[in-house]
Amino acid sequence: MSERIGLFGGTFDPIHVGHLVAAVNAHHDLGLDRVVLMVANVPWQKAGAREVTPAEDRFAMVKAAVGEVPGLEASRMEIDRGGPSYTADTIAELSALHPGAELFVIVGWDVSAELATWERLDEIRDLATLVVVNRPGTPPPMGLLQDGWRLKEVTVPNLEISSTDLRARAASGRPLDYLVPAAAVRVIRERGLYSLSG
Ligand code: ATP
Ligand code: MG
Repeated sequence: MSERIGLFGGTFDPIHVGHLVAAVNAHHDLGLDRVVLMVANVPWQKAGAREVTPAEDRFAMVKAAVGEVPGLEASRMEIDRGGPSYTADTIAELSALHPGAELFVIVGWDVSAELATWERLDEIRDLATLVVVNRPGTPPPMGLLQDGWRLKEVTVPNLEISSTDLRARAASGRPLDYLVPAAAVRVIRERGLYSLSG
């Protein structure tokens, strides 16, 4: 049987349990062989709007966080490619690397509502099945089937948690523990990210 690979892209600034719960449930529910957490190099939709933590630091957090979880892996493909991170390029690279693999692009509800802004969306639609995961704060997506997507839904407990909130928590000295996996909190402290130290 062909390999089933999930691509879960993000800025992961920082990674949190909302990301990980989405990834492990997509892995389980869809019988994926692996879910690749793809750390965006330059998240073109966020660049300029705020200062994004250096990609190597975000990658170190993701790698630490997925360390122990079977079926999940951190990828630096977009970092190594350099420049802005377009999912169309990543999907093309993954399908060249894994000929015959079945590819799944996993997104939360908020991102599924913004797909129309993605570069070369048709190429992604041709090569991958879209997987949407519920996320509080955004309504469920509409019209994806009419748009021609092969579509799967994955349902997880609603986790009202975002990297934006976590950055604000850290800035005001509140703890990240249990919202961010312990191994990633260690990386944050070691590297002094988000003004946390020790
Ligand atoms: P930010 O607030 O900086 O945008 P974020 O928490 O939205 O950070 P991203 O790195 O932007 O995290 O998101 C990566 C992917 O994870 C997106 O597809 C997003 O929809 C999904 N995601 C993030 N948080 C959750 C959550 N709590 N539940 C379900 N999906 C989530
Ligand atoms: Mg986001």
